[in-house]
Formats: sequence, structure tokens, C-alpha cells
Amino acid sequence: MTTQRTVLNGGWTDLQGGDGDGAAADTATIDPINILDTVEVPIVVLRRDLMVACFNKAAADVLGLSPSDIGRTSCDRSALAGLHRLEEQCRQVIAGGMESRADFRDGYRWFVVQISPYARGDGQVTGVVLTFTNVTAFRASVDQAIYEREFTKAILNTAAGPLVVLSADQRVQSANRAFYTMFGLSRDEAQGIPLRALGRAAFELAQLHGQLAEMLAGSRAFHSVEVDHVVTGKGERTLVLDAHPLFLPGHSERRVLVTFQDITSRKQAEAAKDLRSEEELRRSEAFLAEAQRLSLTGSFSWRVATDEITGSDQLYRIFEFEQGVQVTLELIVSRIHPEDLPLFGDMVDRARGARADFDFEYRLQMPDHSVKYLHVIAHGTRDSDDCLEYIGAAQDVTQRRLSEEALRRSERQLQQVEMELAHANRVAAMGQMSTSIAHEVNQPVAAAITNAHVALHWLDSEQPEKVRQALNRTIKSGNRASEVIDRIRAFIKKTPPRMDSLEVNDAILEVIALTRSEAVKNGISVQTQLAEGLPVIQGDRVQLQQVVLNLIINALEAISGLGEGARELMISTGKAKSDGVFVAVRDSGPGVSPTNLERVFEAFYTTKSDGLGMGLSICRSIIEAHGGRLWATASEPQGAIFEFTLPTHPDSPS
Ligand code: ADP
Repeated sequence: MTTQRTVLNGGWTDLQGGDGDGAAADTATIDPINILDTVEVPIVVLRRDLMVACFNKAAADVLGLSPSDIGRTSCDRSALAGLHRLEEQCRQVIAGGMESRADFRDGYRWFVVQISPYARGDGQVTGVVLTFTNVTAFRASVDQAIYEREFTKAILNTAAGPLVVLSADQRVQSANRAFYTMFGLSRDEAQGIPLRALGRAAFELAQLHGQLAEMLAGSRAFHSVEVDHVVTGKGERTLVLDAHPLFLPGHSERRVLVTFQDITSRKQAEAAKDLRSEEELRRSEAFLAEAQRLSLTGSFSWRVATDEITGSDQLYRIFEFEQGVQVTLELIVSRIHPEDLPLFGDMVDRARGARADFDFEYRLQMPDHSVKYLHVIAHGTRDSDDCLEYIGAAQDVTQRRLSEEALRRSERQLQQVEMELAHANRVAAMGQMSTSIAHEVNQPVAAAITNAHVALHWLDSEQPEKVRQALNRTIKSGNRASEVIDRIRAFIKKTPPRMDSLEVNDAILEVIALTRSEAVKNGISVQTQLAEGLPVIQGDRVQLQQVVLNLIINALEAISGLGEGARELMISTGKAKSDGVFVAVRDSGPGVSPTNLERVFEAFYTTKSDGLGMGLSICRSIIEAHGGRLWATASEPQGAIFEFTLPTHPDSPS
């Protein structure tokens, strides 16, 4: 330190006096030197001949000057060698007495060198004072700012959407390329234009400017604003404007960045979608209404707490309510058939009590007293307020009910006709068997008469025991005749079908008895092969006997037509292969051709001149009504077999 101060001291004195009088200058120069040494800015003083006169401590530190540099030209100093034109500038300053500046770089450091004339008291410039202001940090921040600015500019210009920075008075300050393109303006033309004047005053919106003004006053909030604006070359577009405040640290001035987003395509797509969904909704509503009309189904909702009822058009049509009238429970009740009112009341009470789905049918009585059948189903739900609501459908099933009723009626009529027919068939069959029947009745009657005669004879002979025996036989024969007549009466009587447990063999034997003499008359041998221990079956005795009688009569007729050959009729029973029993009637007649095996069961199919063709058809329906089957097959070597099965009575021991 001492050495340096000496150096400075010497240099300063030299510059002051030029004669090196140290004693005189000592007191006058000590203070400035001390002061200069306390200054952090490097200061170098050059003489008129540009020799280094002196420098302060900062210059020694920063520029690397040493005492040996005193008296040497500045350009010799490597530290100052970077200062081009230094000598020239210094000479100009010395000659003109005007300050000058130069930029100086030392490695990474930047200095601004101020070259000031140093004048003595008489004004003569005896040298220059170089002060080195370190501007490294400043330059760095300027560079950074320039970089940031360029960077931001690049981003803004590559951003697809238009952006603009507005000044405090809402005028265009800077913008990106997209912004200028959108408004068809050059940068210069746009500069300073108020936002509200842009786009034929499309942005002249109080809401927009009020918000921008608030933002410029410090607010950060901004609710985007939608603006319709005609864009050059693109036609009418919908833009969404958003704003963000821009604050510069240390600056009180505020600006706003306004962005423009073109949402035209999105809006068009949304509008198209809305239109589509509206159209779809309209179509599905129309479909629903049409479906309700065609299916005669009306829909309704019923809010239980408020009794609020809404119904579809079809519901109004079903109840014949005037369209538009408010549907109430009372109004509905006024249409319920008086006999169904209790049922309806029950349903309403149950539905009110707890959420329960309902499905029931009731009748309406319309103002003209016609009756409608209604099938109602509804599903109960609870809404967010826990209120019970039923959504349901009411279908007018009148037509269906009436058709069902008509069907039931015609089925009943058909059954009646079938019964009549079967009865007629029975009577006819009995007519055919009249000779046999007469014989069947005559036989016991004749026996009774004979026994009565015998009794008389023994009476004359006073043989009471023989008389008793003869009378007993008379009674027996009388009973037999009466039984035969009872059976025939039962057979011919028109009675509704009844199901009884019966033994097939018993029933068959009664029929065979009736037909026996007819067979004998025609020289036909009737054989039976009735299996023992057959399960009991359930059926109508008379109807089943009618079937067997029909089959036997057909067989007898078939055999009778034959000129020669075997004349045999075999009636057999047995256990059916599957379950139950079978009955087969086999004859040695001409048989049925294979193609007609099914046709013979068709109503009105007959090959007989006096035939009706109803016998087998009635037989088949009787057997099928008993849960069995009746069919025909060919018999070997000739003839036909008609066979039927009957299921076992459920209680029959297997
Ligand atoms: P119909 O006896 O009034 O003709 P059926 O329905 O009882 O009516 O019989 C229909 C037809 O079936 C008879 O006309 C006859 O051609 C045929 N057929 C019925 N049973 C026999 C049989 N055992 N052998 C040959 N043909 C038969």
C-alpha cells in the first residue's frame, strides 16, 4: 500500500506541476489521492504525451497496473491494449477539451471508459482522466432482455391463435403474426389502434372493456367474452377473448395480453349435433307415439305425494279424456267400471302404502256405457327427495278379451257339437246293433219266462224248493235283462263326459256281448285275448265303449264284405309298451291300403255307400281326450288292426 500511494503521489505531483516539486504539492494532493484510492472505479490519468501519469488502487487491481507503468505509454500496457483508438480519442479530448467514451472489454468484463480532459487552473488541458465503469452485469441483463424479447417474439409468432398486448389505454402495443393476419393489418397499421376500433367495432363491447379496465387497474379475474367477427377471407367467425395481466417488476404500468380463440368449427359442430339430437328426439317421440297408438298403450306417471298424474296422448284416447285436461285420480275413478271400483281402490291404497310394482286388469265404463278392458303395469321409484313415483303403461286389451271370450264360446260350442256328434254316432251304432241288442235283451227275458213256467210246474207238483230255485233263476234273468237295458240306456243317454276309474276288460266285454249275435249272424268268429291284472285306467266308460263298439262294427262290416276266406275277429288287451294299457281290434277283412292308414281318421272319409265317415274321427278325438293314441296298421296275412292306448290311472298300482 505504501508503495502504491507513493507511486500515485509522485504521478499526481508530476501532473500538477510538471517539475516534481514534492514538498509543495504534498499537502495539496494528499486528499485527492486518498479519495481516489477509496473509489472503486478504476481511474487512470494520462499526460498530454499519453504517458501514464498516475492511477488509483482500483486501476491497479482491476487493470493490473504497477508502479513501473508510470511514465510509459498507455498502449504499452497490455491491460489497456484492448482499447482501440484510445490514443486517437485521448488526443481528440486533449485537443478539443470535450469528453469522449469508449467500450472496453477485458475478458468477460465490460467497461465503459470515460475519457475526460484534465485541465490545470489556467484551463490548459494537460492530460486525460480515464474512468472505467464496470458494466458487465448491466450488459448481461441487457443481453438477457434482448434474448428474452426475441424468444418471446418467436413464441408469439409461432402461436397459432392471435395474441395482442394492449397498453394501459387498451390500444395495440404489440401482437403476433396471427393477430395481424386476422385483422388484415400490417404491424405499423395496427400499432396504437384502440381495441374497440378493430374489426368494424366488433369488439366495442361494454362487458369486454369493463373487464379489461379492471384488469389494467389490478384485477386478475377475467370471464372470457364471445365475439362474432368477420375475418378477412374466412367470413363470420366466433371468437372467444381471454385476457391475462402483464406486470413488469419495478414498473407501475400495466398491460394486458389478449388471446383470441376461434371456436366457429366447434360451435358449428355443436349446433349440428344439437340439431341432430333434437331431430332424433323428435323421431323417437314420434315412434313412441305411433307405437302407443298401434299397441293401444298409453303411458303415465303418478307422483303419490301430490297425486300429480301425467299421461301420454294415447292414455287420453283410451280414457276418452279431452286432450289437455288435467288428469286426476277422481277423473280416472269416474271411468272405472262400478264392479271394479273396490279392486281399483285396493290397488291405489297398496301403491300409496309402500313402493310396490303393480300389474292388474280392470274394466272401464265409458260415458256411452261401453266397456273397455285395461291391463295396467307400473313400476315404483323414489326420486332424490325420496318421493314415490310410479311410471307405468295402460294397454287397452278390450279387443283381446272379447276375442278370447269369443274363442272360449266357440270352443264350448265345438265341444257341444262334438258331444252331439259322438252321441249321434253312438245312437247310430246302437241302431246298427239293434238285432244284437234285441237278442241280448230277449235272451234273459226268454230265460225268465222259461223259469217262470218251470216254477209254475213245480208249484203244481208242490215242490216248494224247486219252485224257489226256478223263481230265483227268473229273478236273476229279469235282473240281467234289466242290466242290459240299463247299459243300453246309459250308452244312448246324452250325458256330459265323466272320468271314472275303470277296468278296461270289463268295459270291453260288455261291448262284445252287444255285438256277438251280429257276428254270429255274419258267420264271424269273435275271439278275445284279454290280459289279466291290467292297471286301472281313468276315463269315461260310455265314451271308451263307444270307441270299441265303432272298431268292432267297422271290423264286422269289413269282414262281411268278403266273399270267402277266414272270417275272424280278435279283440285283445295288454300292457302298453310305454305305460298304461292297449286295446287292439284285429280283423281278417280286406285291410286298409298303406296310403289310407291315416286318411281313415279324417272326418267324412268313407268308402261305404251309406257311411258318414265320422266314426274313426270321433274315436280318435275321444282317445286323445283321454291322453291316449289311436292308429291303424295292416294285419298279416290280411286284414286291419285298429289299436289304441290309454294311460294308467295315477292311483293305479304299477
Ligand atoms: P264309416 O264307417 O262311416 O265309413 P269310419 O270313420 O268309421 O266311417 O270309417 C272310415 C273308413 O275307414 C271306412 O269307410 C272304411 O273305408 C275304412 N275302415 C274302417 N275300419 C276298417 C277296417 N276294419 N277295415 C278296412 N277298412 C276300414
